[in-house]
Amino acid sequence: MENNNCPKVETCPLFNGLLLKRSGSEESYKNLYCKAGKDKWMNCKRYMTAEQIGSCADWILPNCSLSLEEIIAKMKEKGEYKGK
Ligand code: SF4
Repeated sequence: MENNNCPKVETCPLFNGLLLKRSGSEESYKNLYCKAGKDKWMNCKRYMTAEQIGSCADWILPNCSLSLEEIIAKMKEKGEYKGK
């Protein structure tokens, strides 16, 4: 059977319960993105950011309203950009 999970589930802090402690929204994100198949996790802003620059800051959520360019600019502003 095809694995519908995002390839980053093993290392993603959101998926592993490190970002949204005691929040029901973590389960929602997992169902809407992480475990929802390629069409969904490919559009997760955390996935897109990590693919683009090799890392993803903790404040970025799967449905972040910023564009990828805006996310990267903000990470640079905050000194979080370790991009490739
Ligand atoms: S879909 Fe997004 S939040 Fe879920 S594991 Fe992948 S990168 Fe992390």
